[in-house]
Order: sequence, then structure tokens, then C-alpha cells
Amino acid sequence: MTSLADLPIRDDLRGQTPYGAPQKRVPIALNVNENTHPIPEDVAQDIVERIAQAILTINRYPDREFTELRDSLAGYLGHGLTRDNVWAANGSNEVLQQILQAFGGPGRSLLAFPPTYSMHSILATSTGTRWLEGERDAEFEIFPATAVRAITEQRPDIVFFCSPNNPTGTPVSLETIAAAYDATDGIVVVDEAYAEFAPTGEPTALTLLPGRPRLIVSRTMSKAFAFAGARLGYLAADPAIADAMRLVRLPYHLSALTQAAANAALAHADEMLAMVDDIKAQRDRIVRELTALGYHAYTSWSNFVLFGGVDDPNAVFETLLAEGILIRDLAIDGHLRVSAGTEAETTAFLAAMARIKA
Ligand SMILES: *Cc1c(COP(=O)(O)O)cnc(C)c1O
Repeated sequence: MTSLADLPIRDDLRGQTPYGAPQKRVPIALNVNENTHPIPEDVAQDIVERIAQAILTINRYPDREFTELRDSLAGYLGHGLTRDNVWAANGSNEVLQQILQAFGGPGRSLLAFPPTYSMHSILATSTGTRWLEGERDAEFEIFPATAVRAITEQRPDIVFFCSPNNPTGTPVSLETIAAAYDATDGIVVVDEAYAEFAPTGEPTALTLLPGRPRLIVSRTMSKAFAFAGARLGYLAADPAIADAMRLVRLPYHLSALTQAAANAALAHADEMLAMVDDIKAQRDRIVRELTALGYHAYTSWSNFVLFGGVDDPNAVFETLLAEGILIRDLAIDGHLRVSAGTEAETTAFLAAMARIKA
């Protein structure tokens, strides 16, 4: 039998491991920050109708420029953005990959601030982009001076921020992002996959876009929109950035079915986002109750909570799993991460945690 090691694979892929969040069938899955609320029935109906319409012309390639979808996404984002500022792909992971295809690659480097989203380094590797690491301040924050120091010392071609950061939930301040932008002549990317879960009214990096043509804000419909299975991520940036994406995307990369589904969902944005407040309330409850149990739960602007003070993370993970509750062990010493679920799911998780502590 042939194994991977026997193949003439690229040297820089040798020994790498693929992204591997476990996909287990459990009653309560709180491990990959999905929105655990199903989408509203009437929205589902509308999506099915739009997909059914799209099927009738599926013999033709889809709109390569996904113009209607870029209009819908720009309308959803607001901030004076138009279709020219917007680009989309099959999940924001593909958006990030396209950014690295255009601006990274062999001979180029990407600076990020671990612990952060594991896909960022995997995408660096798969595109041949050198991975560089900056340090964080206390409570996983990144102060402006800390970011600027990492950039001036390491001179990366691309800087990635994740705000709010996965897996810590920590926001990155706009001051830090602006200072980082001024400290580099490279590309600055802010992965805002969880932006909708930030405190209401908090400005996002979208407000920094005017006058900053090297800044890219990436978003996804996977989390707040409860659309993870549909695969739709997008970015907002200067129109020139979208032109760069056109050089590396595969032709017709967004299927007609994906475009139809996303357009229908965006037409119901208010309804689709109705669960967000509920999820934020469950997240805050997790922070409160885990703190009361004696854990160190970090402030989170996302739909998950990182908590420390766990003597044996693997034992807690396994005890929860035996009760049908799947959370995430990210191999951060003494820490675990849990997604905020529905009220019932969150109650089950917190009750199990209280039993473990007892
Ligand atoms: C979940 C997540 C994404 C979403 O990826 P999709 O490909 O859009 O599903 C992107 N960035 C971060 C930090 C995430 O946690």
C-alpha cells in the first residue's frame, strides 16, 4: 500500500497534518463555533425556491462576477461600500487562500499573532508563504506598539489579525490595526468571521477602509448567518484588491446554487441574524457561570468562550464527550474552548461542568 510519504509530494508539505477538527456525531456539538440554531423555516423555503429557479439554467456557467451577490453583500455591510469593494468565495477560508495566492507565495511572508485561527498557518503552508509569529500582550490583547514592533522587526509582506480572535475571543483594537497598517507597505488582513457577535455599536475594521487600499476585511456567512454548510465567505476592500482576486480565482468558482442560496439568505438578513442576540446572551452566561465555578473565562466578542484553569483539559474533554457534549481541546496548556449553543445546549454544558467541578 502506498502512503503519503512514498509520493513525490512538495518538500514543504512533507510531514504536515491537515486541518482536523473532529466531526463526531454527538447530541451537543459545541466544538467548531457553528451557529447551532437552525435557520427559520420561511427563510429555508425562500432559499429552496431560489435554488429551484437556479437549477433551471444550471446547464450554463454561473455569473462569473456574481454581481447580484456582491450587491447583496455590499448592502448588508453598509459603510458606503458598493459591489466594487466586495469579493466572495466558497467560505472565507477560500477568500484568505486567494489573498495569499495573490500577495503571498514563495519568497513572501505572513505575520500572525498566535494563538489564532489554525487555518491561517495551514493556508500559509499550502501557498508556500513563510509563516512569522508576533507576540501578544496580557489577556491575549495586541497593543499598537506590540504589533508595530513585530512588523518593523520581521518585515512581513502580509499581516493577519483575527478580530475577534479565534480561539481566544479577544478583539483587536482599531488603533492596533491602523498602527500596523502605517508600519508596513504590505497587505493587512483583518479576519472578522465573528464581527456580528461584538458588542452592539462597536465599530469594525470596515470603518478603517477609506484611504487604506492595502487593508482587507474578511467576513463569512458561516457563523452569525448560520450558513456554514453553504460555504460563503467574502471580503471588503479597495476595488483594486478585488481585481487582484480575479487573477487567482478559478473561473466560475461560485456555483449558481451557492449564489442563489446566499442571495436568498441575505434578503432575510434581519431574520437570519435574530439568533445573534440570543447566542451573545448564552456566551455571556458561559463566562459568568464558568467564572463562578472557578475557571478563568476570557472576555469574548465572539460566539465561543476560551477558559483556563483546567487541570486536565483532556480529562474534562473526555468526560463531556461521554455525556454527548463535544467541545474543543486546542492544546493550549490548561485551556479549553466551547461554542455558545442554544439555551438548552448551554445549560447541558454548564451543568456537566458543575458536576465535574463538584
Ligand atoms: C470559522 C472561521 C472562519 C470561517 O471560515 P469559512 O470558510 O467562512 O467557513 C474564518 N475565520 C475564522 C477565524 C473562523 O473561526
